[in-house]
Amino acid sequence: MPRSLTLTPPRQAAPAAVRRAVDSDRRRTSASVILRSVLEHGPVARSTIARLTGLSPASVTDYCARFAELGLIREASAPRRSNGVGRPHVPVDLDDSRFVVGGVHVAVPYTTVALLDLRGRVVAERRLDHEGTAPERLLANAADGLDALLAGHPAATALGVGVATGGWVDRDSGTIVEHPLLGWRDVAVREAVGARTGLPVHVDGHARALVNAERLFGRARGSRSVLHLFVGNVVDAAFATNDEVHHGPRSQAGAIAHLPLAGGTERCACGRTGCLQAELSERTLCARARAEGVGGTDD
Ligand SMILES: [Zn+2]
Repeated sequence: MPRSLTLTPPRQAAPAAVRRAVDSDRRRTSASVILRSVLEHGPVARSTIARLTGLSPASVTDYCARFAELGLIREASAPRRSNGVGRPHVPVDLDDSRFVVGGVHVAVPYTTVALLDLRGRVVAERRLDHEGTAPERLLANAADGLDALLAGHPAATALGVGVATGGWVDRDSGTIVEHPLLGWRDVAVREAVGARTGLPVHVDGHARALVNAERLFGRARGSRSVLHLFVGNVVDAAFATNDEVHHGPRSQAGAIAHLPLAGGTERCACGRTGCLQAELSERTLCARARAEGVGGTDD
């Protein structure tokens, strides 16, 4: 008699802890979807948000009440009458007057620190030239730079800090795994900046951070998929599909620095010749331009 084999485990109720985690994920996702909808379409009626997001009107109203309490959104001033019947549709919009986030970008020659409002607009910015690249000192200077900017905006409340750099950045552990141009290896950025600022810190590779910013605030707003290629002192890429920026195992998606370029002649720090980053980086292009006599004198 033939026996059938099933690969699906018997259904059973998920343990309470798992259910709670799933519920909390769902709440986080709904919250983020609604806030993004307000960011993109505001001022916007709650009924429109429900239609755009597929969430129930009751749920949208509930979230909006909570966001208003937190000071993240507010009712727009002029209510729109719906033909004089029923309740007026009071649109909601992002409240960009109270909160800021800190941004830190560590480039090779300098670090930029900035404050941004909830619409991603730069409120204040300062460039800190590197005296050295020792991570402790550099990150402490960045945190102090943010403090100084915040001191200049006493009415603003900081929600958190985003730190972006080139190199290999592991978002989950908040660590810069490797950044050869800075000479960094396993630098616990989230811990260092968090301890100094007392704020939640998100760390990511600069290409992924850029794609995220473009999706939320820039030209790629509303696109389902984005591919971004970065060529500077480092060469890397980032991509988003189905509204999600890909990280890959240990955040290595988009690591293209050491792809071999056919016919390449430049020695790479990794020991091979002709890696994409060695061939295309700003340093190489500038050195070649100088060798060809392009550009002015450089002292
Ligand atoms: Zn290489």
